[in-house]
Amino acid sequence: MGLGNLPAEVAASSDAVARYAARNPDAPHRINIAEQGLAYDPAQRKVGITVVGAGMAGLLAAAMLRNQCDKVVEAAEELPNNHSAVLRFRSSVVADTLGIPFKKVKALKATEAWRNPIADAVAYSQKVTGIATARSILSANGAAERFIAPPDLVSRMAELVTAPIEYGSPFPFWIGDLPGPVISTIPMPILAKALNYPRLDKMDFRSRSGVNVIGVVPSVDLYASLYIPCPDSYAARISMTGSRVMIEVYGKGMDKLLKADQQGRTDFVRNCLRSLGIEEAEFFNVAVKEQQYAKILPIDEGERRRFIMWASERNIYSLGRFATWRPGLLLDDLVNDVRVIQRLIEDSGASYPHRKKD
Ligand SMILES: Cc1cc2nc3c(=O)[nH]c(=O)nc-3n(C[C@H](O)[C@H](O)[C@H](O)COP(=O)(O)OP(=O)(O)OC[C@H]3O[C@@H](n4cnc5c(N)ncnc54)[C@H](O)[C@@H]3O)c2cc1C
Repeated sequence: MGLGNLPAEVAASSDAVARYAARNPDAPHRINIAEQGLAYDPAQRKVGITVVGAGMAGLLAAAMLRNQCDKVVEAAEELPNNHSAVLRFRSSVVADTLGIPFKKVKALKATEAWRNPIADAVAYSQKVTGIATARSILSANGAAERFIAPPDLVSRMAELVTAPIEYGSPFPFWIGDLPGPVISTIPMPILAKALNYPRLDKMDFRSRSGVNVIGVVPSVDLYASLYIPCPDSYAARISMTGSRVMIEVYGKGMDKLLKADQQGRTDFVRNCLRSLGIEEAEFFNVAVKEQQYAKILPIDEGERRRFIMWASERNIYSLGRFATWRPGLLLDDLVNDVRVIQRLIEDSGASYPHRKKD
């Protein structure tokens, strides 16, 4: 199967690309996003797509598909902003697509040595996922180019959406006939259950909640992440993104931090900043946020793909880290996925039941 000029890592990881390639072996499906831009042309408007979920994936899809998207439905009562940290990306594709400037930086990564490289990798995995396996921190040390989103990325993405966003409006997947093509960004286990997916018992969904402690350190301008394998330390990863600190905590430390008073949280942040060499810095706006799906664990790849295919045959296209159950998926990866879903929907023709004559 020819994958055109699609980068190997995208071709390998993207379900949407795989599905598209399977159906259109000869089509050049690497899309020049920069050329397409986000132009909104009412004359081109086709009515039909419902985007479910106004998290980052849903907003990206609704912004990119502004000529096709009818509405966005979100269960929460307001823009959820589910991501409490400043976002970093591997490429500028999200910035280019949305027309929102990101900052290009060199970001440092290092692991705080505990025992030896293998023990450290296993201990880190145990701490973060609850499973003792060799995690990627073995290759985490060094500097890499990263693109940093502005802190208000989510609200700026919402401003780019021309379709109405209906809050407090859980999409009733369970009712039966869909109003048209649906792009679902809700977690795969929830969708599979709502649709009564017959192979649900074959999918062993496991995830871990976590706690993020965030704050602002005005005197610092640093892009760095420190991984901490030591099981006795509550912090698993300490990241500075410019002047914003984020500390990820899993397992036994979560409860302590959630119950800690402001002084306890402040002391915790001060100690973590010291680990990065930042002494005596003033910091503000310390907050503790819970993250339900802080880590998701892989499921059987065949089952995962089978469900995505099964749902798309029912006009439901899965998009996003939790919807496609791909740990480590970043927003960068979704830009191509949105374009491929767009092509799949267009190719399916009859999928626009409410298409109006423009
Ligand atoms: C510590 C940490 C750091 C991270 N750093 C990065 C990073 O630097 N870059 C990056 O790209 N990613 C990063 N991520 C990942 C990123 O946060 C997630 O991939 C992203 O938030 C997932 O967004 P989503 O839109 O796919 O899902 P969600 O944010 O979960 O959105 C789904 C939405 O659907 C809504 N919903 C659920 N059911 C229904 C229903 N029936 N009807 C309507 N609405 C419904 C929910 O309320 C929710 O708002 C990080 C994650 C963590 C934990």
